[in-house]
Amino acid sequence: MQRIGILTSGGDAPGMNAAIRAAVRTARAKGMSVAGYHDGYTGFVENRYTELTSRSVGNVIQTGGTFLGTSRCKAFLDPKVRAESVAQMREIGVEGLVVIGGDGSFRGALTLESEHNIAVAGIPGTIDNDVWGTEETIGFDTAVNTAMRAIDQLRDTGESTGMMFFVEVMGRTSGAIAMYTALAGGAASVVVPEEDEDWTVIARHIKDQMARGKKSHIIVVAEGEQAGGAFAVAGRLGARLDHEFRVVILGHIQRGGSPTMRDRLVASQSGALAVEALHQDRSGFMVGIQHSTPVLVPLKEAVERGHPEPRMDVLALARHIAG
Ligand code: ADP
Repeated sequence: MQRIGILTSGGDAPGMNAAIRAAVRTARAKGMSVAGYHDGYTGFVENRYTELTSRSVGNVIQTGGTFLGTSRCKAFLDPKVRAESVAQMREIGVEGLVVIGGDGSFRGALTLESEHNIAVAGIPGTIDNDVWGTEETIGFDTAVNTAMRAIDQLRDTGESTGMMFFVEVMGRTSGAIAMYTALAGGAASVVVPEEDEDWTVIARHIKDQMARGKKSHIIVVAEGEQAGGAFAVAGRLGARLDHEFRVVILGHIQRGGSPTMRDRLVASQSGALAVEALHQDRSGFMVGIQHSTPVLVPLKEAVERGHPEPRMDVLALARHIAG
């Protein structure tokens, strides 16, 4: 393989730049050139790309977001549009594609492989940590650290004033950020989409904590649809608890920021391995992290299996040691 393309797709996540950097430098070391498509599949469809060299990925390892841009691209869902895009891609000599994104982006990559026999490699990049076959997606560690620091700061004021906080973290269908943030931030309680909440039990638990003299109460809420987010949860619990509270929505703050060491490491390992495997004429895989080691996982299996099993052990421990 002489030339590859690379794109970031779906939601952006801190560490995507580190993955692009590792992929580009690995490709250059193997004598391959790299087209960096702008704005995910949108740039792929519109044939918008920049030639990436080892120098063009300098000074990005520490930056959040993705310098290539990202998008959700409706046009790409049309097989005719995909066929035209592949023709353009072949015209500029691109033989394989590295896709950094979540399971939706991987579905897109798989259609290119099955319909047009394009070599594709996936790198899981999403703050939600909701891709099957990997212990950690790029961006998750940074997002959880950001949410944890926010909770540390809320706790300062909570301890001083006795205020209760409902803190909404990201995760519409996955409670991973909420579970890990609750554990690491020492939250009083946590609400996740993986569970049907029993409000009476949660309220009693917090009342018990109050009776034991606990002063600051942080309740972490995943933005998940069925519980309705932090405002809805605060409405339900606030009335039962008869305690002054505030709602804090962390929102897109969790998407940004300089990636942690862990995310830079995972991103660098994943970018390098993805390109090495493409160079060896492998296709249809994603790089997963298993037992802290980068491995190749069949992309089809990752997509078909859907979300990984939620870490209910982390949730249980967060609750168990909530005091
Ligand atoms: P993520 O990759 O973060 O899960 P999305 O689910 O929004 O994000 O997917 C990103 C993009 O991938 C979509 O906008 C679309 O262009 C492409 N995509 C998603 N699902 C498919 C599919 N089944 N077939 C083809 N392309 C898809």
